[in-house]
Amino acid sequence: MSRALKTNEELMQELYDLQQEHESLKNKYKKDISFGEQTRKVLEKRIFTLTHPSENKMDIALEDLFNIKDLQKLQDEISDATGVASIITRPDGVPLTAPSNFTYLCSEIIRKTEKGCENCHKSDSIIGQLSPLGPTVQECKSGGLWDAGAGISVGDKHIANWLIGQVRDESQTDEKMAAYAKEIGADEEKFLTAFRQIRSMSKTQFEKIAKVLYTLTTLLSKSAYDNLQQSRFINERLQAEQALQESEEKLATLFAAMTEMVVIHDLLFDENNNPINYRITDSNNAFTKITGITREIAVGKLANELYGTDEPPYLDEYSQVCLSGKPYSYETYFAPMEKHFSISVVSTGENKFATITKDITELKQIQQVIKTKNKELEQIVYVASHDLRSPLINVDGFGRELEYSLKAINSLMKANDTESDIKKLLKAELPEMNQALGHIRNSTLQMDVLLNGLLKLSRSGRVALQILTIDMNELLQKATESLEFKAKKSGNEIELSELPSCKGDSVQLTQVFTNLIDNSIKYSNPNLSGKIKVSGRIEHSYSVYCVEDNGIGIAENHLSNIFELFHRLDKNTTEGEGLGLTIVKQILSRLNGDIRVESKLGEGSSFYITLPHAKVSENTGE
Ligand code: ADP
Repeated sequence: MSRALKTNEELMQELYDLQQEHESLKNKYKKDISFGEQTRKVLEKRIFTLTHPSENKMDIALEDLFNIKDLQKLQDEISDATGVASIITRPDGVPLTAPSNFTYLCSEIIRKTEKGCENCHKSDSIIGQLSPLGPTVQECKSGGLWDAGAGISVGDKHIANWLIGQVRDESQTDEKMAAYAKEIGADEEKFLTAFRQIRSMSKTQFEKIAKVLYTLTTLLSKSAYDNLQQSRFINERLQAEQALQESEEKLATLFAAMTEMVVIHDLLFDENNNPINYRITDSNNAFTKITGITREIAVGKLANELYGTDEPPYLDEYSQVCLSGKPYSYETYFAPMEKHFSISVVSTGENKFATITKDITELKQIQQVIKTKNKELEQIVYVASHDLRSPLINVDGFGRELEYSLKAINSLMKANDTESDIKKLLKAELPEMNQALGHIRNSTLQMDVLLNGLLKLSRSGRVALQILTIDMNELLQKATESLEFKAKKSGNEIELSELPSCKGDSVQLTQVFTNLIDNSIKYSNPNLSGKIKVSGRIEHSYSVYCVEDNGIGIAENHLSNIFELFHRLDKNTTEGEGLGLTIVKQILSRLNGDIRVESKLGEGSSFYITLPHAKVSENTGE
């Protein structure tokens, strides 16, 4: 402490330099937060401490907010510049930094005694009290030298004290010192020698240094608060980022794993703000699996481009959802893909929407089969309760008549009438009895036909199918060969065009086309030379065949009934069971196909058969 005292200007300059240095340290610290891996780890620990203040507020410490090494350097330099001793302690007086410039008296004599050390801590804790007014300057409670202190806080929490002092002026006397040496049990001689080496400084000068210290601790408190806020901010951001990442991961997993197709779009508008199209911005695995369109192909495409349609599909529905923000679900048949879809549309942001689409084609097919089966069952119930009932009533009625006649004959026999009387009666009764028997036979035959028909339908519906790709040219060639004779005999000509192949069962399909051509022969116009044409074309993924004739045609009101069980338009002029078209429809339904008819009375009929298309090379049995 032999150096000359510094002027105020010099001190102020040093303070300025110190503040600059402090700022650069602070900046370095901030940079370290962002870039230094090692500091990042320290920061993580600090962040943890700092961001849990609500649970553990008391745990915030100076070392959590500042690098103690940096503070030590600052403390050493201030101490060196001002010539006063300095230390930073916890609020309870326990040191956080190593003492700078401590006097021999304080560090080697007073603090070496138990009582002296205890008093030092007590005194340190008192002079470091937080005060908004300025530093605390007072005589040390452990020896009476001049001491000053200023508290460091974070928010309203007192976290440390910065203490300076161990200087003397005329207030401290040898007598007081000797008494204190005695009090704490120190060697009086040594105590006084050390006391006399203590640096002397005017109280005003010391107060100025204390003021500088106060300014510095105020800055540190502010910086501590900033650090805390920064740490909290970083932590909140980290948590938000983590939460976002987690939710993004969850969404991505869901997006990829969903069996429904999920496609995300941007709605596009024209200059008048009318929706005109939409662009695909993302699609999931299920979309590729069901449509065969990869994400790479889909993303960035306009809807009509991607689906090959003139207009973007379902633009009205999607625009409505985007504009109203209300989700919408519907079922639709999407012709370009020949699939039935169940689509849910949700708005995902301004002019953005997602479609969640389920392929319900199979479900629709099953529903169709169930519908056909139900209709069949209904018809069977109708036949059983109506068609079978009328011959049964006949049998019952004519049976009663027979019974009546037999009773009459019996009673004559019992009355012992003459043979001629009996003969007379028999002559009268027998023709009626014969007639009744004839009616009964007819009715039972009729019932037999109906029951056989039902049996035939039931058998046909249960026959095992062997689905293969069928060369329809070959199949029709063979089927018409067996009908050729019948056709020629009735003046009909059969013409076969080039036919596309399809997926089906060859035996069942032979039955379908034989029934149809047979009907065309049967219902040909007797006044014309009959022309029966079989043609075919491919429509999307279906093969559509047409069996066309120029026969008698069907009246419009019968068109919807001709596929019904036992439905015949003219029971008297032609022979038939009214079962052929029912079986045709049943077979086609089992083969995922269908049939419809167009006809005009007197002009002819066209039966259109739809079956799944397949190329001949795809002939793998299923
Ligand atoms: P069926 O021929 O044994 O009467 P179908 O079920 O084959 O039974 O036909 C039902 C009815 O549909 C026929 O009775 C007939 O009236 C009408 N029909 C079927 N095919 C033709 C056709 N090609 N031209 C005119 N009528 C037809």
